[in-house]
Amino acid sequence: MTGGSFQQLLKTVLTLYPSTGKELYRSMEINQPTLFVVSAPSGAGKTTIIKSAKKSIPKLVLSVSHTSRSPRPGEQHAKDYFFISADEFRNKIKNGDFLEWAEVHGNYYGTSREEIEKLMQQGKIVVLDIDVQGALQIRNIEGLQTRYIFIEPPSLEELKRRLEERNTETPESLAKRIDNAKSEMSHKDKYDHVIVNDVLEKAVEAFKKIVSNSAADC
Ligand code: ADP
Ligand code: 5GP
Repeated sequence: MTGGSFQQLLKTVLTLYPSTGKELYRSMEINQPTLFVVSAPSGAGKTTIIKSAKKSIPKLVLSVSHTSRSPRPGEQHAKDYFFISADEFRNKIKNGDFLEWAEVHGNYYGTSREEIEKLMQQGKIVVLDIDVQGALQIRNIEGLQTRYIFIEPPSLEELKRRLEERNTETPESLAKRIDNAKSEMSHKDKYDHVIVNDVLEKAVEAFKKIVSNSAADC
């Protein structure tokens, strides 16, 4: 990051988040982190790809978001998401706890500033798995060293098949996810990289290449 853009970032964060902005900046100055923002229609395979890439890039960590949606079978609090009520989520919005947040498929989702600050201080390569609305909010934080990756399914039919096979959605939420996929895909040109997740191994390799080319020393 250049001195000029760092100063700009410092100014922006201190304006937006005076209480913890100084800490975030201190950690960024030391570690020069790159943040990776990954978006995809639900079911395109981003969780699978990121988890697979983590095996060979140990410094890669997926930020754990907060959500008001209910846990799926097997999902764990603080590992997959911090599962909180809609009221708790709204209180956190009021307190300014989120770096970004959005309503997606009828539920709240948000990235905790505290979580990102902690990971950056640890020198991690941080990945945010967030929707298009959240990615646009991160873009508005000037000077942040960020790469944007969009993962798309080979087709909407295959997306539907994967969601059905994953067997985590009610018919209503499945229909909502397929419907939203069309509008999400219309934003893919705003991202630095687009990966088509057809053959999983190829998509994982493409993801790892982008990360290792963009993040120093991983
Ligand atoms: P997302 O995190 O984007 O919602 P997931 O990673 O949960 O999506 O993947 C959705 C489903 O599709 C999972 O059951 C996963 O095993 C499967 N899947 C992921 N990638 C592929 C692929 N390339 N080919 C076939 N199935 C896949
Ligand atoms: P799911 O319910 O399938 O876990 O996630 C639904 C959508 O919410 C996905 O597109 C995912 O990327 C998005 N999402 C998850 N966490 C966050 C977050 O912290 N912020 C935003 N804006 N979107 C998120």
